[in-house]
Amino acid sequence: MIVVPVALGDRSYEVLVGPGVRSSLASVIPERSRRVAIVTQPELPVAVDPGREHRVFLMGQGEEAKSLATVEQLCREFSRWGLTRADTVVALGGGLVTDTAGFAAAVYHRGVAVVHVPTTLLAQIDAAVGGKTGVNLPEGKNLVGAFWQPHAVLCDTEVLATLPEREYRSGLGELAKYHFLGGGRLDELPLDERVASCVRIKAEVVGSDEREGGRRAVLNYGHTLAHALETAGHYDLRHGEAVAIGLVYAAELARALDRIDDERVAEHRRVVSAYGLPSMLPPGVDLDELVELMARDKKAVSGLTFVLDGPRGVEPVTGIDRPVLDRAFEAIRERREEPA
Ligand code: NAD
Repeated sequence: MIVVPVALGDRSYEVLVGPGVRSSLASVIPERSRRVAIVTQPELPVAVDPGREHRVFLMGQGEEAKSLATVEQLCREFSRWGLTRADTVVALGGGLVTDTAGFAAAVYHRGVAVVHVPTTLLAQIDAAVGGKTGVNLPEGKNLVGAFWQPHAVLCDTEVLATLPEREYRSGLGELAKYHFLGGGRLDELPLDERVASCVRIKAEVVGSDEREGGRRAVLNYGHTLAHALETAGHYDLRHGEAVAIGLVYAAELARALDRIDDERVAEHRRVVSAYGLPSMLPPGVDLDELVELMARDKKAVSGLTFVLDGPRGVEPVTGIDRPVLDRAFEAIRERREEPA
């Protein structure tokens, strides 16, 4: 078992990573908790034992289930059962469950403890760590939420064995991102080390900027184009696949701005293709639509903002002009040989 601390003063916690760590659940729940509400999905082939009185509360599948209606339903069910402020919510599932149950825990009785047991690769290396919780509105994704740090996170790598292939690949897109945030050759590590390395990077970034005053934005590396591709909606891409294309696009943008050299761009393409992820724009893509969507990105502060690699590492860069965007688009429209 690998233990990764997340240092946030009195809200510090540990992320346990390794095969079978879900069996540690009982020991990480606060002692004062008599009851545990386990929030999960009916189809999930993973169970946990919190070692005290507990009840399972189910939520639906897909982004529509990540809603205020689900939060209301969960809170009403918690209340009918008699969950108190001293008790604990356990979120057992992918990022959809940890985001929704995490937000329900943040607002129920003005905040009860939550322990995340993420069961997708994406949730283990990203969604369950760092305290961002929230739900969607019909007007957009993640528009309502709260920072609510978990009491502990259990990343049980054993449970990833049942993950559908496409969900696993989606996690690999986020994993590819961490290569460029200081992770290096993550693909050469065993699975639990890989997950722990990503968690360490996320923990370090979150520890230095919990509420995204600045540095935490680097975690959005590759995400500006990815979100636009996902919002446009007609390209049938999983989140991680969109991130993979976004990473290569960000590298091309950085090269167009002379921030990185050909070799670094080639490295982005190499990592993305090593994970079997796409690096080119889907056919028939509407560039004007993508640029408009990128300009509306929640993270955009002034004009077009991208997180880009460069001599000082990955950092937000503002005020990028359309001709530069188009040069980089051109580079991801047709496959071409990169120098080795
Ligand atoms: P998901 O939670 O929808 O899970 C994908 C599918 O896999 C679901 O059908 C789920 O039931 C199934 N599943 C989960 N674990 C399984 C297992 N072990 N075996 C078999 N099937 C399993 O998707 P996701 O990719 O984990 O999460 C996506 C969500 O995470 C998005 O809503 C996104 O906004 C959010 N997110 C949040 C943060 C954050 O910092 N809070 C970061 C990244 C993503």
